Amino acid sequence: MTAALRFHDVGKAFKDGTVALTGADFAVAPGEFTSIVGPSGCGKSTLLRIASGLDDATAGEVTVGADRLGYVFQDATLLPWRSVRANVELLAELHGLDRSERRKRAAEAIELVGLTGFEKHMPHELSGGMRMRASLARSLTLSPDLFLFDEPFGALDEITRERLNDELLSLFRLQRFAALFITHSVMEAVFLSTRVLVMSGRPGRILADVPIPFEYPRDPALRFSPDFAALCGEISGHLRGAHA
Ligand code: ADP
Repeated sequence: MTAALRFHDVGKAFKDGTVALTGADFAVAPGEFTSIVGPSGCGKSTLLRIASGLDDATAGEVTVGADRLGYVFQDATLLPWRSVRANVELLAELHGLDRSERRKRAAEAIELVGLTGFEKHMPHELSGGMRMRASLARSLTLSPDLFLFDEPFGALDEITRERLNDELLSLFRLQRFAALFITHSVMEAVFLSTRVLVMSGRPGRILADVPIPFEYPRDPALRFSPDFAALCGEISGHLRGAHA
C-alpha cells in the first residue's frame, strides 16, 4: 500500500546553521492518525512545513502519496472581512471551483463541523472553538486524503479542546483521511491517534513510536480509563527523556 506520506531520513538545516531536524524516518499510511509530541523548538512545525511542501528538506527525501492535502494551523487564519461561509469557500475558490459547487461543498463542510446557522456571522462574532471549526471546514471543502494539523487546538480551553477532539474523531471516522497531528498535549495525542511519535529536543529526531491500540469510535470516557493513563504515562516518560 502506498503511504500517504513518507519521510526517508529527512533532515533540515537552516541557512544560519540551526539544525532543526535530523534522520526523520517514518510513514503515515492511508487512514492512519499519527500524532507527534515533543518539546518546544524541537522541529515539529518544520517537519509539518516540509510535509506540506511549504519548506524543503536539506537531507533525505519526502514522498507524498496523497492526492489532496489539508493544512490546519494553530491560528484559524480566517479573513476578518469575510463571513463564515465566504471564509469556508475560500480554498475551493482558489482552486477555481465554480460558485454552485463551492456553495454546495461549503454547506456540507459547515454542517460537518456543526456551524450550520452561523454562515453569515463574521469571524469576530465567533468563539475561539467556532473559529477553529470554520478553519477545519475550509480545508474539508477539498476532501483532503492527507490532513496536516499544527497544534490546531493548542490555544483553546480544555473543555472546548476535548469537544473538538471528539468532533475531529467523528470526521476522521466518516472521511478516513490520513492525519499528521502536532500537539503539546500527550492526552490529546493518545485520544486521537492510532500512533504517537515522540521527538527529542533540537535537533529533533524520533525517539519513540508508540502504537495506540484503542478501537474507534472512542468514547470520551476513554480518557479516564487505566489503559489510557498507562499509555499517557509511557509517552510522558519518553518526553521526560527528550527534555533531559
Ligand atoms: P517546534 O514546532 O517544535 O516548536 P520549529 O519547527 O518551529 O519547532 O523550530 C525548530 C527550530 O528551528 C527552533 O529552534 C527554531 O528557532 C528554528 N527555526 C525555525 N525556523 C527557522 C528559520 N527560518 N531559520 C533559523 N532557525 C529556524
